[in-house]
Amino acid sequence: MGHGWEGVVLKLMRGKDFVFTVTGAQDVTAHCRRVHFTDGGMLAATGAHPTMWVRVWFPDAGRPHQRAYTLVDPDPAAGTFALEFALHEGPASRWASAAKPGDTVAATVQGSAFALPEPAPGRMFLIGDRASAPAINSLLTAAPEVPATVWLETQHDSDRQLPLRIRPARHQVHRLPRQDGGAHLAARVRADLPALLGDPATAYVWIACDTATTRTLAQFVRRDLAVPRSQVHAQGYWRP
Ligand SMILES: Cc1cc2nc3c(=O)[nH]c(=O)nc-3n(C[C@H](O)[C@H](O)[C@H](O)COP(=O)(O)OP(=O)(O)OC[C@H]3O[C@@H](n4cnc5c(N)ncnc54)[C@H](O)[C@@H]3O)c2cc1C
Repeated sequence: MGHGWEGVVLKLMRGKDFVFTVTGAQDVTAHCRRVHFTDGGMLAATGAHPTMWVRVWFPDAGRPHQRAYTLVDPDPAAGTFALEFALHEGPASRWASAAKPGDTVAATVQGSAFALPEPAPGRMFLIGDRASAPAINSLLTAAPEVPATVWLETQHDSDRQLPLRIRPARHQVHRLPRQDGGAHLAARVRADLPALLGDPATAYVWIACDTATTRTLAQFVRRDLAVPRSQVHAQGYWRP
């Protein structure tokens, strides 16, 4: 598949291309669909890390559209993984809603690099929504012994049923409805976090919401709470 100028740019930046094949799909909630894939050799070549994401080229109206998605349960030995799609308007959502075994998509692995800080943080603070729930789950799984507080913004009632891989003894979850373009979530985190943070040098704060909310919260955490840059990861996942 030709990827237009976006693909040419990625090629020049030495991205790695693979073809994924759908092996099955199921609804996780009314607004989230999980699609299972074989990886076309990707994981053997790249390995896997928590929050790992790929740039997938979704065909729509005769042209490919590049969108980022997070690997769920990547298994390098089996060469399989899943993607969990938050469903809304858009080429990726449309493709996922119709995906069936045998369908293929091209993908480029580039830009995804991540490691939790060493030594392990004293506590993790994870702030996201439906789009970043797969990444939050990968962090909870990668550091199961680290206490964590999660703030998850919900857009639909069904988002409250999104499965989070929490261990109730160590993980606390706050589900908050999306209001005022993310301002409600931001206000709640601003109110809660200072009392929970402890030593900023051993805290770890991971933020992936819509771009504006992510920026607001990242500034708050770095500037107002003085959490060192090495202990903060912030990346906008979608644009309203
Ligand atoms: C590193 C990274 C990893 C990501 N991993 C995932 C993942 O695992 N699962 C996932 O679902 N998304 C994930 N995203 C977000 C996803 O790439 C975007 O939501 C993308 O815009 C979806 O493409 P689309 O073609 O469906 O919609 P687009 O064509 O991009 O947008 C169409 C319309 O839908 C709205 N929209 C887009 N995304 C959302 C959303 N999340 N919620 C509500 N409205 C939205 C837009 O504002 C627009 O009005 C990730 C993003 C990044 C940067």
